Amino acid sequence: MNENDTIFGKIIRREIPATIVYEDDDVLGFKDIAPQAPVHVLFIPKNTHIATLDDAKAGDAELIGKLVLAAAEYARREGFEQNGYRVVMNCRGDAGQTVFHIHLHLLAGAPLGRFGTPM
Ligand code: 5GP
Repeated sequence: MNENDTIFGKIIRREIPATIVYEDDDVLGFKDIAPQAPVHVLFIPKNTHIATLDDAKAGDAELIGKLVLAAAEYARREGFEQNGYRVVMNCRGDAGQTVFHIHLHLLAGAPLGRFGTPM
């Protein structure tokens, strides 16, 4: 994990604090420090460093699927399965990716605005 010299690598290694709300063998989920919705949780791989979605390989498919299913499980656990929620993965500059350890955003808890409009 030494190659993961990102803020999320430090969270995985418990070198800096985070509010962890989900954990299994492969995935860690923790609250975003600057929430964009009433519920904003980030799901990241614990044991594999992938910088961006563009760096993911075919062999990473199961792990990326696990991120998505972890978000769905957490959303169900918190009771958002009926009202709904959004998952987003930003890739590089135009999407505004700021942390280069792949992560899935889960946004929930209120009607969400539309997205994808060029700024
Ligand atoms: P990105 O913009 O790369 O898709 O998302 C990175 C997210 O990480 C942002 O929403 C940002 O608020 C969050 N973030 C950045 N630094 C920290 C931190 O130290 N702790 C936590 N919990 N979230 C962070």
